[in-house]
This record gives sequence, structure tokens and C-alpha cells, in this order.
Amino acid sequence: MPDAQTAILTIDLAAIAANYRHLAEQVAPAACGAAVKADAYGLGAAMVAPVLQREGCRHFFVATVDEGLALRQVLPHALIYILNGLPPGSAATLASAELIPVLCTLEQIEDWRKFCATSGAQRPVALQIDTGISRLGLAQADVVRLATDSRLLRGFPLVHVMSHLACGDEPASPMNDRQLMLFRTLTEHFPWQGPRPSFGISAS
Ligand SMILES: *Cc1c(COP(=O)(O)O)cnc(C)c1O
Repeated sequence: MPDAQTAILTIDLAAIAANYRHLAEQVAPAACGAAVKADAYGLGAAMVAPVLQREGCRHFFVATVDEGLALRQVLPHALIYILNGLPPGSAATLASAELIPVLCTLEQIEDWRKFCATSGAQRPVALQIDTGISRLGLAQADVVRLATDSRLLRGFPLVHVMSHLACGDEPASPMNDRQLMLFRTLTEHFPWQGPRPSFGISAS
């Protein structure tokens, strides 16, 4: 018998799979990724992530390098992104586990550029632009710098540019349109090399 004071949380993996299928249909032909940070928000990333992968999910987002390393053990071939960016001195660790940093500052971009130049590892990155949540991401002035100095993003592939909605769970919020417009304006001027990367807007 469980202790009377112990709450039991039952996770319905089939329901999670059905939710993923529903969302993936809604956003097709864009890819639907999954944020599984904080141990999949307490649901158990080691259980949830393989179920999502079986439904066709290829892009997984976690907050920290440690979460990324743990998820790599579970998903050897998935694309795993680190939302909090690149902690100082962690580039080699990320690269060897094939984790993709979501770079949030010009300093992080410069660290990655130097790492790629010295190691010869040309590993991909994503960029986070702050369009209004004011939590993480490149400021508008940083985006202008990147757009006007193509050397800053040279030597490694840029695979995604993303931004986080401040009110993503409120479809009627005027903030959503405002952020989308700013996102489009800022990314228009990017120095894309090769094929134009896809854009992701993450919602809660
Ligand atoms: C956590 C996070 C997400 C996922 O959205 P939630 O607000 O946790 O639902 C998306 N983008 C970024 C940058 C995040 O840190």
C-alpha cells in the first residue's frame, strides 16, 4: 500500500503520443519539436522522449547541458538543443555529445566561433532572439550587429532561428502578433549562408 501522504502521478504515454500527433498535423509542413526540459516538466524525459521520437519527433529542446547529456543517453540520434545557450567552457562537451546550443548572446556566438576554428569541428547552432519575453535571447541591437558583420556567424552552420512567445497560451493576446512581426522584421536582414534556415516560434 502506498503511504497515505504520497501523491501518485499517472502519466498516460498514449495521450502524450496523441497530443504530439495532433500538434504535428497542425504545424505541417513545418517540423514539430518537443520541449522536454526539467525532466519533461516532471513527466520523466527518459519515458516521454522515446515515445515522441516514435511518433516522428526529431527535434528535442532541454534547458541545460546536463539535461542534454542525459537525454543523449536515451536518444542517440535525435537533434538535441540546449535552450539556455552555451555556458563558459562547455563548447567541447556539447560538441562531443553532438548537442546543439541555442546561442543567446554575442559572447556565446564568439565562443562557438573560436571553438569551431580551433577544433575544426564546424558544429551547428541555433539562435534565440528576444522579441518580447525579455528572458533569454539576442537583443535587437545584437541582431543588427550579426546582420551587418557576416564574419560573426562564419565557420559553422546556423540551423534555426527561434523566439519564445511571452503569451503563447493566450491565442488572443496582441503580444503574439507583435512578437511575430518583430521576429520577421529582424530575421529578414540576416546574413544567411546557403539554404535559408527554418524559423521556429516556441510556445508554452
Ligand atoms: C522553456 C523554453 C521554451 C518552452 O516553453 P515553456 O515556456 O517552458 O512552455 C521555449 N523557448 C525557450 C527559450 C525556453 O527556455
